[in-house]
Amino acid sequence: MTYRLTADHLELRAMVRELAEEQITPRAAAIDASAEFPWDLKELLARQDLLGTSFETRYGGTELDNIAQCILVEEIARADATTSLIPIVQKLGSLPLSVAGSEEQKQRYFPRLASGEWLAAFALTEAGAGSDVAQLRTRARRDGDAYLLTGSKRFITHGSIANLLTVFALTDTDAGGRKGMSAFIVETDTPGFSAPRLEHKMGIRGSPTAELHFDEVRVPAANRLGEEGDGFRIAMATLDQSRLSVAAQAIGIAQGALDFAVGYAAQREQFGERVVDMQGIQFMLADMASQTEAARQLTYAAAAVVDAGDADLAYWTSCAKLIAGDTAMRVTTDAVQVLGGYGYVTDYPVERMMRDAKITQLYEGTQQIQRMIVARQLLQRSGVPVRRSR
Ligand SMILES: Cc1cc2nc3c(=O)[nH]c(=O)nc-3n(C[C@H](O)[C@H](O)[C@H](O)COP(=O)(O)OP(=O)(O)OC[C@H]3O[C@@H](n4cnc5c(N)ncnc54)[C@H](O)[C@@H]3O)c2cc1C
Repeated sequence: MTYRLTADHLELRAMVRELAEEQITPRAAAIDASAEFPWDLKELLARQDLLGTSFETRYGGTELDNIAQCILVEEIARADATTSLIPIVQKLGSLPLSVAGSEEQKQRYFPRLASGEWLAAFALTEAGAGSDVAQLRTRARRDGDAYLLTGSKRFITHGSIANLLTVFALTDTDAGGRKGMSAFIVETDTPGFSAPRLEHKMGIRGSPTAELHFDEVRVPAANRLGEEGDGFRIAMATLDQSRLSVAAQAIGIAQGALDFAVGYAAQREQFGERVVDMQGIQFMLADMASQTEAARQLTYAAAAVVDAGDADLAYWTSCAKLIAGDTAMRVTTDAVQVLGGYGYVTDYPVERMMRDAKITQLYEGTQQIQRMIVARQLLQRSGVPVRRSR
């Protein structure tokens, strides 16, 4: 697999960087402090046609390739991780429709999502079903030409503000999560749906993470994605692709912290010299830069694999998310170190970036789960019989 950045990729990066530096960076600290969703920036991204990049042009999207979608997320996350979740979750919430939706379902929902008129969210996790999503308890009981959804979801990004949710629920309790799970499109103005509680979080504080309740929510059978029992496959196929966005988010956070640390070290003086002239600091900056670059190149390679639709795309996207998430955590921690005590206070953005980085090691599969996916595929390729990991 090979890839090259095109002139269009470079142009997109320059355009988004300028937009982000002018309009998102100045808002980042206030978004973090207030923990309020930046509706103005959602409108800005919609106006700039930056929420429709993963949708085909016939549905009103701009149909960018996956490297371009990574560049977009990366440049927004370099300014503010919370805001980068707006395109990330728009894609995450609509990927189940791309994976398994009928033409009629796509025509009904994609134009409103591509334009940013509607927000989407992805509702899989439950209190008892985190890494082991097959343990989910939310039920979908058939009732004539509809299903009645009952249960609760936990940790759903944008769940309280989305217009459309892709919800995973058991249609066959005896078959269990892997074979008895189905996926549904749920419009959030349907009676019986509520989002009663938001989490108080360490980072990405402007992005609402909601608990969702479903009390006999009536969903037309026409809103089921694929067949009954396809839910687990749809969820995994979604996450296999969507992890790429988290890798891009991690790289953007790392790059933002590195850039700030370089600028700070160039003006801070101790012992009669600039901190940036000290070799001990230069070595840290060099490690931060090379690790970020390595994560970026791996992520673009994974993006090219997703574009090609290769069978081993889960291996590549998990490798990318694993390396990029760990890189973001390491680089932001080192950025705090480069700023010394000033890195630890909220006058400077690197402490926020360090808090934001942590989530990239947790959501869309923790780093342990990424290792399980990579190891399983590695062993399969090597002809080693694999037992399902626990
Ligand atoms: C801010 C935020 C936003 C989120 N957004 C969404 C969303 O939009 N939609 C959604 O559906 N979910 C979302 N999630 C849920 C997220 O994907 C889960 O939190 C994550 O998958 C881990 O599940 P858990 O928290 O239950 O941890 P657990 O599964 O309880 O894991 C606990 C620990 O055990 C480890 N572990 C678990 N299984 C294994 C194993 N087999 N081998 C080794 N180690 C293991 C884990 O890595 C972790 O360290 C979000 C979570 C957060 C915090």
